[in-house]
Amino acid sequence: MDQQIAKIITGGEYLVDEPLSRHTTWGIGGPADVFVRPANRRELTGLLQFASENQIPVTVLGSGSNCLVSDTGVRGIVISLAGTLKSIHLDNGDVRAEAGVMLGHLVRRCLQAGLTGMENLIGVPGTLGGALMMNAGAFGEEISSHLVKVLVLNLEGEEKSYLRDDIQFGYRSSSIPPDEIILEAEFHFEAGSRPEILERYKQVSIQRRARQPLRQRSAGSVFKNPASGLSAGKLIDQAGLKGTRRGDAEISTQHGNFFINHGTAMADDIAFLIKLAARTIKQQFDLQLELEIRTLGFEPGFWEDAGLA
Ligand SMILES: Cc1cc2nc3c(=O)[nH]c(=O)nc-3n(C[C@H](O)[C@H](O)[C@H](O)COP(=O)(O)OP(=O)(O)OC[C@H]3O[C@@H](n4cnc5c(N)ncnc54)[C@H](O)[C@@H]3O)c2cc1C
Repeated sequence: MDQQIAKIITGGEYLVDEPLSRHTTWGIGGPADVFVRPANRRELTGLLQFASENQIPVTVLGSGSNCLVSDTGVRGIVISLAGTLKSIHLDNGDVRAEAGVMLGHLVRRCLQAGLTGMENLIGVPGTLGGALMMNAGAFGEEISSHLVKVLVLNLEGEEKSYLRDDIQFGYRSSSIPPDEIILEAEFHFEAGSRPEILERYKQVSIQRRARQPLRQRSAGSVFKNPASGLSAGKLIDQAGLKGTRRGDAEISTQHGNFFINHGTAMADDIAFLIKLAARTIKQQFDLQLELEIRTLGFEPGFWEDAGLA
């Protein structure tokens, strides 16, 4: 397989048995059989066609800021668009950006152009592709709010596009099929007052720093807030779980929904704490929490004993 991939990925990067801990913000995760960062769409399309013809499983990763990868890693090909496919075009309020663009970069480009609508998302790590898949949001704003169109590639390497209304966006979810790869998206933003946008940007950054353990390795919020309007972090705090540790994994003492890797935590340690939190919240408050993070490489049914999918 490696030699055939080498013929397709001539400008990009491909690595065999690559530890995914190098590609997640948690710094956790076993190896991918092959890890590929294609240089351009032609390489990506060629790779998908090769994988499809040879029935090799494909997994897509952005910058791994919302993923827990198992200690045994992921079989087949893992494709990352972080650091590649990163062009941005601005034309008045119309903005077109490729999926590998870092969200923070896109927010700053909009700010510089005096466009309003993205400033609340400053500080959300990750790529545009990951943000769209997760419908990333903060302070009442979601990435889908100003979306016009999304271009995707299916696993056979064929392109197709969705208009905003073709996609159902929910709380940290989108109906874009998990076997499609987002290539680029178009947005429309209104012109705003630059000083006001900058002020909002600063306020959001200050609030984030005050509330979240941003200097430690995490994947942001592990659980979704329950539909009843409660906060998962506050429930975990009320259950007395903040500061609970297993090895180098800890439920943050600052924010109950952030789980920290202090250095050498394994996926197994984080999974233990996740299950402990879900079971405790179920017992104490009769509430079933749901995962916000995406889990990769775990055996089917691994999460079921804690009521998690
Ligand atoms: C400190 C911290 C703070 C955070 N704060 C927030 C917050 O305020 N709000 C919020 O919503 N999130 C937050 N997050 C979570 C995370 O940053 C977002 O979910 C982000 O949008 C994920 O982007 P990513 O590129 O890292 O995606 P990844 O974590 O790599 O992937 C997430 C999912 O998207 C899929 N995916 C990625 N790229 C593509 C693509 N091109 N095509 C198809 N599927 C793709 C993956 O398969 C996976 O299922 C935070 C995380 C951290 C570490």
